[in-house]
Amino acid sequence: MSEPTDSQRMEKIVSLCKRRGFIFQSSEIYGGLNGCWDYGPLGVELKRNLKNYWWRVVVHERDDVVGMDGSILMNRAVWKASGHEDTFTDPMVDCRSCKARLRADQLVEKKGIKQCPNCGGKDLTSPRAFNLMFKTFVGATEDESSLTYLRPETAQSIFVQFKSVLEVSRKKLPFGIAQIGKAFRNEINPRNFTFRSREFEQMELEYFCRAEEGMQWLDYWKEERLKFYENIGIARDNLHALTVPDEERAFYSKGTYDIEYDFPFGRQELEGVAYRTDYDLSQHQKASGKSLEYFDEETKQRFIPHVVEPSAGVDRTVLALICEAYSEDEAPDEKGKMETRIVLRFHPRIAPIKCAVFPLLKNKEPLVAKAKEIVALLRPHMYVFYDETGAIGRRYRRQDEIGTPFGVTVDFETLGEKDPALRDTVTLRDRDSMKQERVPVKDLPSILVSRIS
Ligand code: ATP
Repeated sequence: MSEPTDSQRMEKIVSLCKRRGFIFQSSEIYGGLNGCWDYGPLGVELKRNLKNYWWRVVVHERDDVVGMDGSILMNRAVWKASGHEDTFTDPMVDCRSCKARLRADQLVEKKGIKQCPNCGGKDLTSPRAFNLMFKTFVGATEDESSLTYLRPETAQSIFVQFKSVLEVSRKKLPFGIAQIGKAFRNEINPRNFTFRSREFEQMELEYFCRAEEGMQWLDYWKEERLKFYENIGIARDNLHALTVPDEERAFYSKGTYDIEYDFPFGRQELEGVAYRTDYDLSQHQKASGKSLEYFDEETKQRFIPHVVEPSAGVDRTVLALICEAYSEDEAPDEKGKMETRIVLRFHPRIAPIKCAVFPLLKNKEPLVAKAKEIVALLRPHMYVFYDETGAIGRRYRRQDEIGTPFGVTVDFETLGEKDPALRDTVTLRDRDSMKQERVPVKDLPSILVSRIS
């Protein structure tokens, strides 16, 4: 079997996502909406597991971080103060030959001449700034006075509520505020499946600290975030922490790392970890006229804290998880003939379904009843799937393809029909090794929980 090329691999991944219900095109029956995606029954589970794990390690397992959930629509003044209204732009050029709208930094260059990546045309307009924020109107009149934007990042609601959260949580520096939520950007060229979308979700932490500690916390969070990706099953070799050079950093940032992943379509950003200094809080203090200062009880000083921001994309990480997990190997079919097996090797922690439960035969009532009992036993602990249709090998294959790490089969031995010593034991199959072990039913919850968390 020859190795698929990167583009073939990506095609297979996109088709698997649709076929098995991870990701669909938004508004598909109407021809879709460019840059928008819907997550199906398995995609939503994967996404939730990712967000829950992020929340667990960033908020619940720490004393120094609390969460919040801000609104998507905010007062327009926020976006003026943050600089987004004037500068949240990408350089856009038009191709006069095929009329495509292109991001100036994504043109192809041949022999020093910039060309349209669609048609190869060289007749391009000069770049002009295109603001990426989606406009909308609040209330019944549609004019300048009611204009605002769908938020292009979740971070600003954290800055604007900094003082309120500080007061209610009674935290001392350094401390962080975390948020997961939707963000919207009218990207000029949505592409690479869900990688660059117009509607997406972010997992953001604003970690406030003293100015003199900013660079230290930047490095700390870069390392923590790399560990996070490893803990959800992304190999360290496929992750890269790029130090963003001075000329590419936002002018207010003293240091930024991009955490990148080797996607089949190239090395691309998953997350930015940026030391944003005191820029955001200072801007909002200036524009609102409200103090956003921190009072240090010990030194009796008042100052605006600095902030380090790890900002990750939910959708990009979901895509990285699927790309990382996708693999093909060989396994015997019902007759022992080797066939290609598609497996999503998800870390059990983020796999959509943790365990599938199968009665060996669907027309043997005691097997079915026992299997349903096991489903009920496991359900309080994890998402379990019951399947009684088709040959057992086929049922395993269907679960391999969606990354279910464990399969439990109830057979005649479970009923004690062959060997009384095996009564109330089942086979537990491991997705990756395909090995089976015999375990007592009563031990299943603890065995599985320890392998999943
Ligand atoms: P890019 O350079 O790829 O446009 P960015 O540097 O503008 O990204 P940030 O503003 O740092 O991105 O946003 C933080 C994170 O939000 C990104 O690392 C990414 O994971 C996610 N993100 C940003 N834009 C998009 C998008 N259009 N689609 C999906 N995720 C996005």
